[in-house]
Amino acid sequence: MKRPRVLIVNCYSDNHRGARGNYFFAPQPMTGAVLAGLMQREKVDVRIHCEFSQGPFEDLAALGWADLLVLTGLNPAFDRMKQLTAYARTVNPRIAVAMGGSLARALPRLSSRYFDYVCTGDVEDVGAVLHDVFGPGYAAERPLPRYDLANWLRLVGFAESSRNCNFRCGFCSMTAEDRQYAAYDVEDVRRQVEAMGYRTCVMFLDQNFYAGTRSFFRARLALLRQLCEERKIGGWSALVTTDFYANPENLRLAKEAGCIGFFSGVESFSREQIAAYNKKQNLILPQEDVICRSLDAGLVFHYGMVFDPTARRITGLMEEIDFIVGNPKITLPNFLCFAIPLLGTPLFAQRLGEGSLLPDLKLRDMDGRSVICHTLDPLDDVVAFARKMDRGIMPRRKLAAHAWKFHARYRGSLRGWSMSSALANTWSMAFPGLGTNGRDRKVSGSASGRSYLATTERTGSLYRPIINIPERWRQHFAPLFITDGAGELHEAVCADLGVSGRPAAESTLPDIRTPPTTTRA
Ligand code: SF4
Repeated sequence: MKRPRVLIVNCYSDNHRGARGNYFFAPQPMTGAVLAGLMQREKVDVRIHCEFSQGPFEDLAALGWADLLVLTGLNPAFDRMKQLTAYARTVNPRIAVAMGGSLARALPRLSSRYFDYVCTGDVEDVGAVLHDVFGPGYAAERPLPRYDLANWLRLVGFAESSRNCNFRCGFCSMTAEDRQYAAYDVEDVRRQVEAMGYRTCVMFLDQNFYAGTRSFFRARLALLRQLCEERKIGGWSALVTTDFYANPENLRLAKEAGCIGFFSGVESFSREQIAAYNKKQNLILPQEDVICRSLDAGLVFHYGMVFDPTARRITGLMEEIDFIVGNPKITLPNFLCFAIPLLGTPLFAQRLGEGSLLPDLKLRDMDGRSVICHTLDPLDDVVAFARKMDRGIMPRRKLAAHAWKFHARYRGSLRGWSMSSALANTWSMAFPGLGTNGRDRKVSGSASGRSYLATTERTGSLYRPIINIPERWRQHFAPLFITDGAGELHEAVCADLGVSGRPAAESTLPDIRTPPTTTRA
């Protein structure tokens, strides 16, 4: 009997309206490998493609090969999921299409119009899809990510020791989903790390590596220390929240366990802004102190900055930028972006309620690099800020001076990967285009083709089909609008988000996870 064939695509549309794939950015999405690991190796043929890492998926032969297409991705990827579904149905009318991720949870009813299976739960939902499409016996009994299929990941490996978060920041999809933090078994963590083979660094993708009990934290450190001593990994890093730094012992324990450094969501050096984001854990200690504590302990500190020009003036944002680039005691940020009122979050409900969302706002534009809300300063000024942010808003002369002084200050405590990854942020601030997935030269000939304003931004070449698509699937290439011409919630998303902008209660959701197979194309 023919083995079931499954194609998993992690969908992505980059900031510059096109993509060439970026192997070097960290972290890299691992959902494709995790989903593949939920299927029995001996019984299911699986292929995966990650558009973030490998660029746009254009392998029509693979769509013809597959019996089941599984799509995942972050919020702005919804249009991309629709597009790949249209390609799949055009070249292979018998294919079944499943989608999941935060979009499935935010827009379950809308999603059910386009996809056969809408998985609103955890990744393990794919087991129910396998059962419905192929029958029983195809789900893995002991799931393990298929690192062998994600063979573009070499130096750095990615693992997970927990899922969801114990905090509820106002802009975060974790808050919209409101799911409980869950820790994995420590032996599962060991299996994951050992399965990927030796890596110079293993990065833990947990939303908060410091959540959970103290004993769980210590147990993972003991495991990682052992793995480092056995030379199974060169070192490790993780994402933690600021409360981790309140206890100096944590830094010592992490360092002794082979930690290279951490990523932590600083978001802003303004206490007022942090309070507005409801990121109370970042108010425990001054952000600058947190960064210095980490660097002095020999652990590199990475972070991102999230600007909200709807709540703050450009002069305030520029003051923060000047503070950072003029301060060699702290690392430069990995990225700068605008606050995104993700669907279903408190920030989205707030912006919708106060009428701040721009008219004709497309989900595509909610990428952190486009102006999508009314702003305190004139829109033209904020657009100019966005353009500068995208091309390098920190003067290169000051960046060079920062790098020089930072190196001089920390060369005793930061070594090897820690120092080189800290200094790499100088490059990402000087040349932000290097850190993204490329520019859509098919549309504009250069990045200057972007308007940076949601109402006028072009969607890009991904929205033009590369083959002739039958009439019935052509609307899959239309962008999803979040607001209408008056800035009100667009009718396409009303059923899912309602007038308040918050997701419908779980109990009111229709059972759409496993519709009858007769609904397929
Ligand atoms: S701590 Fe991070 S992952 Fe957790 S809710 Fe806040 S932003 Fe989201």
